Amino acid sequence: MSDWITPAERSGFRTTPSYAETRAYLGRLAAAAPRTIHLTRFGVSPEGRDLMLVVAAKDGEFTPDAARASGKDIVLVQAGIHAGEIEGKDAGLMLLRDLSVGGKDAKLLDHAILVWLPIFNVDGHENSGPYNRINQNGPDEMGFRATAQNLNLNRDYTKADAPEMRDWLAMFDAWRPDLFMDIHTTDGADYQYDLTWYMESWGPLQPAVKAWQDKAFKQSILPAFDKMGHLQSPYLDLVDHRDITKGVGNFGSGPRFSTGYAALRNRAALLVETHMLKPYAVRVRATYDLVVATLDYINAHPGELRKATAEADADTIAHANDGVEIPVAFKTTDKPVTMSLKGYAFTQQKSEISGDTWVTYDPKTPRTYEIPFYRDLVATASVRLPAAYVVPSGWPQLVDKLAQHGIRFERLAGNTSLDAERYRLTKPVWDGQPFEGRHLLKDVSIASERATVDVPAGSVLVPMDQPGAYVVANLLEPAAPDSLLRWGFLDTCFEQKEYADARVAEHLAQDAIAKDPALKAEFDARVAADPAFAKNPSARLAYFYERSPWFATQQVGVYPVLRLDAAALGKVRAAR
Ligand SMILES: [Zn+2]
Repeated sequence: MSDWITPAERSGFRTTPSYAETRAYLGRLAAAAPRTIHLTRFGVSPEGRDLMLVVAAKDGEFTPDAARASGKDIVLVQAGIHAGEIEGKDAGLMLLRDLSVGGKDAKLLDHAILVWLPIFNVDGHENSGPYNRINQNGPDEMGFRATAQNLNLNRDYTKADAPEMRDWLAMFDAWRPDLFMDIHTTDGADYQYDLTWYMESWGPLQPAVKAWQDKAFKQSILPAFDKMGHLQSPYLDLVDHRDITKGVGNFGSGPRFSTGYAALRNRAALLVETHMLKPYAVRVRATYDLVVATLDYINAHPGELRKATAEADADTIAHANDGVEIPVAFKTTDKPVTMSLKGYAFTQQKSEISGDTWVTYDPKTPRTYEIPFYRDLVATASVRLPAAYVVPSGWPQLVDKLAQHGIRFERLAGNTSLDAERYRLTKPVWDGQPFEGRHLLKDVSIASERATVDVPAGSVLVPMDQPGAYVVANLLEPAAPDSLLRWGFLDTCFEQKEYADARVAEHLAQDAIAKDPALKAEFDARVAADPAFAKNPSARLAYFYERSPWFATQQVGVYPVLRLDAAALGKVRAAR
């Protein structure tokens, strides 16, 4: 078997292989075990590297169709979305070998098809060096967190600006894996755990999927993982990095993250964070063992996971016209539960440099702390789902995004008059700094109104009786923090394009005052109450312009996406 020692094993886990070495090993493995291992690609990176995908299946179910037809659970394991956090790649090479030419654990594929993404951020992976992860204990050199465009793929799941992410979305939609495991390495405090994890448990995650996650992971897989010689805990999002005893919060990722996105797709997902201070060999082994424990569980419970995801999809479709309300934004409550944290003794000293507290941990002195865990989330914004959305044809960037997410929609053949609900947006506030290449809309006031709206031929009807309904709502609802509006795809809807010259506006204002004494009274009140306004000649004239039909046609702040209730959708359908 010495032929099949992986590059990381050969180096004693001092190093991790390059893209070319990884690809060569996988190619050799696929050639040696053609019935079990299939190496394919799901796209090409901006720098021209194939985005590799490995399918491990017992009976050669190497395509999404064959995999789904097999009735087996499909498990997607993703490594290197942050290319410096690369345990998943090296664990994958070992596991794929053991499942095939190694002749070990082949039974793990009896009821599961393993789809392994060895390196997601391939361009970042090749931007390799010793100085990419200051907090991390090896390997000697590692890739960089972001892509060649300096995008963090794990904030890109809804906006999908990165070409790699658009390819990923198509891959995910084709495979619709029942379980998605996303492998990372943490930063932060020192503690005993070699691995921490996070699962979505909030609002739109379908109950069947949540129940499976709780039963499978919390009751079986994670305890089995501990028995394999590991120690795991929920992800530790510290309230105060200077004092671990102040507690931890619910990470509560959201749809821009891998696990948050999978939840919107009705899929089980686990974020895996190995602990950056443990040796690389320990971290790779932890990743390997957790995936094995997961496949073990799936193998012992054939069809259980598939049943949960199918039920979740069916439930989403069945309730599409019920006006279900889903939460879209969350915060942690201030009522913690208590958790036992297996940490280390630590000392706090005053830092002359930062002026703050400097913490040092003593890994020779394990300590268990009872700490508050702000585990529970409450909704800070919810939306009632419509029966359908309509995206007018003039906004192709929105239609493109829906298509990239694999959302089903229909083109309206002719001009259509819709009895719709729409939003009027006011008081937009954008972040001053770019985040992931965009200026997030951090605040906006949203008012709803009924309107009869004519939309042109080619406009897009997005019915909500589809498995991706929660994705649609999170892309199209202004209240959703990762919506296309928030990410800046619709900023022009806030812009005024025509202005009245002062000499014209003066006439307009005088005419309006002559016709409408109440308007004059309102204006006078505003002048009296608002000194800045009183001192601003253009604002005073604009007061009248903005209340005239000359301004109304500009539709400033009118959100173009329309919401249809079941009756309005029925009317559109009947007219076709
Ligand atoms: Zn990461």
